[in-house]
Amino acid sequence: MPHTFRPGLEHVMAYRAGKPAPRTADGRSVKLSSNENPYLPLPSVAHRLTEILSASISRYPSIAAPELTEALASRFGVTADNIALGSGSVEVAAQLIHALTAPGDEVLFAWRSFEAYPILTRVAGAVPVEVPLDGAARHDLDAMGSRITDRTRLIFVCNPNNPTGTVVSTAELDRFMAVVPEDVLVVIDEAYVQFDRDPDSPNGIEAFRRYPNIAVLHTFSKAYGLAGLRIGYAIASQQVTEALRKVAVPFAVSQLAQEAALISLASEAELEARIDELVSERDRVTAGLQAAGLEVVPSQANFVWLPLEEASAAVSAEFERHGISVRCFPGEGLRISIGTPAENDAVLEAARAVRA
Ligand SMILES: *Cc1c(COP(=O)(O)O)cnc(C)c1O
Repeated sequence: MPHTFRPGLEHVMAYRAGKPAPRTADGRSVKLSSNENPYLPLPSVAHRLTEILSASISRYPSIAAPELTEALASRFGVTADNIALGSGSVEVAAQLIHALTAPGDEVLFAWRSFEAYPILTRVAGAVPVEVPLDGAARHDLDAMGSRITDRTRLIFVCNPNNPTGTVVSTAELDRFMAVVPEDVLVVIDEAYVQFDRDPDSPNGIEAFRRYPNIAVLHTFSKAYGLAGLRIGYAIASQQVTEALRKVAVPFAVSQLAQEAALISLASEAELEARIDELVSERDRVTAGLQAAGLEVVPSQANFVWLPLEEASAAVSAEFERHGISVRCFPGEGLRISIGTPAENDAVLEAARAVRA
């Protein structure tokens, strides 16, 4: 018996994850396609997870996650009512769309940006409105402002932007907020904020304090290296977080994820050293790729964007021949995550072969 599926599902593409690492004859196998953290978990995190592993498997996790919620609230100077957790910030983004849109309502975002936005929007029955990045691969907030309609419910601003690594400035965000109606929620997706060293970048939490119709998305997946455990959160008004709790998948955040996040928050100084290294490696990789004759967009994230356009697929294949998987957007560009220094050396070696 053939099934009947939701109308519109035929237009939804399943999320395409970064390719696994290839393996060359000399055994090189480097995965730089998903912006993951190249380091193993902190010893304190790994130790705590082994301690609670058995006990946490047969029991449901706490839905309220009171300890983690309190820790996040005090870390960011907000109240527990301003925090909503999810199984990765992708799931929180889905909660936001489900909580705020009815079928036919519009969700506005820049394009190209995070691939999950159009998928989550369509799955919710809402309509994605994609506004092209400007010539410097940055958000064009003026153009986005002009696309707001009375159906717009939600606007994603990915800052730094995945996959281009660019940031908006505080002045640009302020000018944008002046044209956004108060009942439209602006979601600043700060998945990569810990890598952002641009003094002109807005601080999402400060922006949330100034504008109640801002929500901020944070994740433990990237800078904190917990991608496999799936945990992220929103900081938003109580009105918004209450709605998020209603649409959240019950028990989606495991106890292991909650505990790992809690320890990570307490270990920020230790994590900061790793983040600093990734930032300096990012700058080294950028300079090295440019020296190899490739155009690189200056990045504030843990990846770099090469706007290779038609050459993207061929250059991606060259990286793969060198045992490195990168993220290819055919016809647009390549996104290369920053790995360990040795992995980054491999990237630069492959890049020199591209131009040779
Ligand atoms: C990686 C990423 C996320 C975080 O995903 P998780 O679900 O928390 O692993 C969110 N937004 C953007 C833009 C990302 O690149």
